[in-house]
Amino acid sequence: MADVVVVGSANVDLVLPVQRIPRPGETVLASGLTRGPGGKGANQAVAAARAGASTAFVASLGADESGELLRTALSESGVDLSLVSTTGTPTGTAIITVAADGENSIVVAPSANAELKLSAEALDAIRSAKVVLSQLEIPFGTVQAAAEASSYFILNAAPAAELSDELLARVDLLVVNETEAEAVGGSLLERVAAAVVTLGAEGAVILSRGADEIRVPGVLVEVVDTTAAGDTFCGVLAATLAASSGTGPITGRDLTNAVRRANVAASLSVKTAGAIPSVPHGEAIDARFA
Ligand code: ATP
Repeated sequence: MADVVVVGSANVDLVLPVQRIPRPGETVLASGLTRGPGGKGANQAVAAARAGASTAFVASLGADESGELLRTALSESGVDLSLVSTTGTPTGTAIITVAADGENSIVVAPSANAELKLSAEALDAIRSAKVVLSQLEIPFGTVQAAAEASSYFILNAAPAAELSDELLARVDLLVVNETEAEAVGGSLLERVAAAVVTLGAEGAVILSRGADEIRVPGVLVEVVDTTAAGDTFCGVLAATLAASSGTGPITGRDLTNAVRRANVAASLSVKTAGAIPSVPHGEAIDARFA
């Protein structure tokens, strides 16, 4: 059984470089087209596996070439795919236009992701995992069911959404960027016991009920492409927490250590272009993490 189970989305990303994002009703020409594996769940599963955790992915793919592309990319990174189901609906697709100034606009067709439900085998894997990690590109009901079956549940509340008290009551650790933190609403610690807010180049801050906040400063790097920085952060955080919980429950000290390692890993990911290609391996992370 895997130490980390990621329950989430898998998409093929179609990336179109454009001079500028088209206005409503306008057509523009792209200078190229690249097609690659992505989706928050897939990116995070790759990050956890590359960071050294035994990682299983619970996801739904179509019986198509995009599904094959994702299977290949995930299995090359060592992710266990035995809980990935295949449906009659096409694989999820994201159409991403990237303007010359770096601004982007993204439309996602969830397709097969919208059909993800937990099988009895997936529930068994979730129950026995040390850490379960999910995001919000799959149905809320599936996220809720995963949270209820987990012993330690991390929710990366992305894309930004309002969250129910019913779900947050089952979340052990919430991970959000600043925009997503606003969408959750209210003071975070009124709603969850612990949260990590990522701050881009500024690093991250750890908030825990009954404890002082802990700032983890950003690592200065030359930025090439921040795609999947947040996903790398979440996957490495889950992997590092799972490794530290060998002898008992996850402590505040384990969390601080894991956030520091995730912060180093995410900073490495922004030095390389692309989503999955930019996710670092454990050796590269630990060469910079003492
Ligand atoms: P993205 O959508 O780009 O994947 P995000 O909005 O989910 O990211 P951010 O807070 O921007 O999340 O970044 C996540 C983490 O990535 C940060 O906590 C930090 O560790 C790292 N990071 C992001 N941008 C930079 C940067 N410019 N320099 C160094 N580290 C960075």
